[in-house]
Amino acid sequence: MLTTTDFLFELHRRGAKRITCVTFRKNRSTIWSLTRDGRVLNVHDAYRGASPALLDAFATVAIEGEVGSSAAKKAATVISAWPELADEIRRLRNAHDTRRREADEHGMTHCCATPEQRSYLHAVYGYFNHTRFDGTLPTDISIRLSRRMRSALGHMMPGERTDGSRYVVEIALNCDLMLSGNGAERADTLLHEMAHVADWMQSGELGHGASWKAWARHAGCQPTRLHERPVRYRRNRRHPVSRVPPLPDAIHEL
Ligand SMILES: [Zn+2]
Repeated sequence: MLTTTDFLFELHRRGAKRITCVTFRKNRSTIWSLTRDGRVLNVHDAYRGASPALLDAFATVAIEGEVGSSAAKKAATVISAWPELADEIRRLRNAHDTRRREADEHGMTHCCATPEQRSYLHAVYGYFNHTRFDGTLPTDISIRLSRRMRSALGHMMPGERTDGSRYVVEIALNCDLMLSGNGAERADTLLHEMAHVADWMQSGELGHGASWKAWARHAGCQPTRLHERPVRYRRNRRHPVSRVPPLPDAIHEL
């Protein structure tokens, strides 16, 4: 496997001296691109395993800086036709589709929060971001309430832009968490999802692995999955939940 330094070295050895930086990007669409006036080569993460022949092809397009000549066109075809790239892109797309589908199954398609509930959730999120995550989480996050979640209490939906940078599509919480008597679980679930936000944004990790557990401990929520929690549910699932819990005094003092 090549590092970005190895990759750059191989390009220079092949005469592509203009390139000053190589980046590997993990995404579902971009195969390669030249940016910063052709000085930066961004390539799909799969090319860490590039063969000498592929490196020749990258050097050809990098030297030319565009795909104009027939040599560069041929090189670009060699690059994009690499079977391992297709496998990797297919794998990333499947993972993305699975996440979407799981989100749908968890009843994550629409929000039933009232404007008052939404501002409550944003206030608590902002408070926890400040007091438990050192203010490192994104501030403009979308937080939804779902009334279709059954046993699921929360969900964090990760997003990835075509340039490989990460963001958070949303946090969704089961609307039953807004009921009276669920205060402890409401706070714990929000912190649990915020730990997923931190883990995704900083490490690109999903799930409940070591890096997530470290965030959960840092934030002070239970470092376990959200199953079998003692939560009160509304009696009739068709009834909306409009309750807005009182904000803790500490939030007003911030
Ligand atoms: Zn989780």
